[in-house]
Amino acid sequence: MLAMLTFVALVTDSQPIMGDAAAHMIAPKANAPRPGTIDPLTRPMAIERAKEWLAPLPPEKIFGNSYLVGFGGLSVALIDTGDGLILIDGALPQAAPAILNNVRKLGFHPKGIKYILSTEPHFDHGGGLAALARDTGATVVASRRGAEGLQAGMLAKDDPQLGYGGRWPSVTRLRMVKDGELLRLGRTTITAHATPGHTMGSMSWSWQSCEAKRCKAIVFASSLNPVSADGYRYTAPSSAAIVRGFAASYKRMRALPCAILISAHPDNAGEGRYDSKPGACRRYADRSRELLAKRLARERSGTEL
Ligand SMILES: [Zn+2]
Repeated sequence: MLAMLTFVALVTDSQPIMGDAAAHMIAPKANAPRPGTIDPLTRPMAIERAKEWLAPLPPEKIFGNSYLVGFGGLSVALIDTGDGLILIDGALPQAAPAILNNVRKLGFHPKGIKYILSTEPHFDHGGGLAALARDTGATVVASRRGAEGLQAGMLAKDDPQLGYGGRWPSVTRLRMVKDGELLRLGRTTITAHATPGHTMGSMSWSWQSCEAKRCKAIVFASSLNPVSADGYRYTAPSSAAIVRGFAASYKRMRALPCAILISAHPDNAGEGRYDSKPGACRRYADRSRELLAKRLARERSGTEL
């Protein structure tokens, strides 16, 4: 019965959303493994870093229909559209059960999640998506480059962190959106904003959340951290598109209506789980711009490793 309902939801959802003729849908895989067997989709990754990234926190209402269901070091957001739930990001593979537990603690049913939006094809934000999509029946939504990375479960050839390698569970049911495209569900319209640089598939998401007659613009920003594996050079000619991507992302991020900023890594937006002080998105962009400028200067002076 549940499988039937999920199927119906997918068929009806596919019409009004995004108007994307190239929508890329792949059938979902089977259900979660039987108790007592190892679940390949939640097998732990990055055990040491995970202690900090997945520091447990209770779920928290941000404003109106928007909540946080993630962790001390990785953000996961939940939006109640009135006609289904939307999740943003999936943290690490082993994080999926805790995320769904936080959804339940808020009084929602995980099967109510229709879409899971992805900010980037990296294991720390996308590793849990395969398990979350399987356990909820939701479709994962990403940019074209993001979807390619999530489907492959590995880093793109032009990823500054390619040297780290690594694989994570691949996502099998994906829908692609373009920059500026709208995702509508219930009372909520979410806008996709391409914010390339950290990865060329990075996407940030914005929406309005209302309480009574007051509405606030919320932005879930992809990581803009200009980090790389050792030996990568942002000053190399082959990195030109990445550097141009960062510049475009700063401009985009600074221009967004942004009463509340949730950043993929909360510590990249200062103290706390989100930033609701004026200028949050501008500060977020400027912080990355400074880091990249310093990095480029180190490379040019020969002091970068
Ligand atoms: Zn990343």
